[in-house]
Amino acid sequence: MLSDSEKNLRIIGTQIHYYFICKTKLWLFSHHIQMEQESDLVSLGKLLHEKSYKEEKEYTIDNLISIDFIKKQGCLELHEVKKSRKMKKSHEYQLLYYMYYLKQKKGIENIKGVINYPKIRKKITIDLDESKEKELMDVIADIGNILDMDTPKPQRMKICRKCAYFEFCWV
Ligand code: SF4
Repeated sequence: MLSDSEKNLRIIGTQIHYYFICKTKLWLFSHHIQMEQESDLVSLGKLLHEKSYKEEKEYTIDNLISIDFIKKQGCLELHEVKKSRKMKKSHEYQLLYYMYYLKQKKGIENIKGVINYPKIRKKITIDLDESKEKELMDVIADIGNILDMDTPKPQRMKICRKCAYFEFCWV
C-alpha cells in the first residue's frame, strides 16, 4: 500500500498547473474527463519548444513529470519553456514540483529550475528552498482535498472562453 507522501507524489505537473488556473478544471482533468482542445494546446506548446529549442531533448520521468530540457551547469538545471508570463505562478509551482519530485524520489539535491519565455526573451530562475518546499506541500495537500470533493462549482473567468471545458461548464 502507498504511504500518504507517495500518494501525494503521484500528483502530476499538469494538476499543479491547473490548481492555480481553475479548481473545476483541476477536478475534471483529474477525474479523467478530458476534452479534445487540450491536445491542441499541448501541440502548440510543443511547436514553440521545437522552434526555439530544436537541439534540446524532452524528458519524461516515471510517466509523471515531463521536463522540456535538462542542462548540467555545476548543478542539474531543469528547463521549462512557456509562451507568456500570464500564468507565472502556476509555471513556478509546476517546476518546483518537478524539483521536489527528483529530490524525494531520485535523491537529487543540487537542482535549479529555469523558466524560459522565448517570445519575450526572458528567463526566471527558481530555487527549492525550505519555505518554497513548505508552500508546495500545502498546495499538494489542498489538491488532494479538492479531488476528494464533489466537482467544484465553476467560476466564470476570462480564460473560460478558451478553455476546453467551456461547454461542459457553461452550455
Ligand atoms: S470553463 Fe472556466 S470554470 Fe470551467 S473548467 Fe474551464 S476555466 Fe474552469
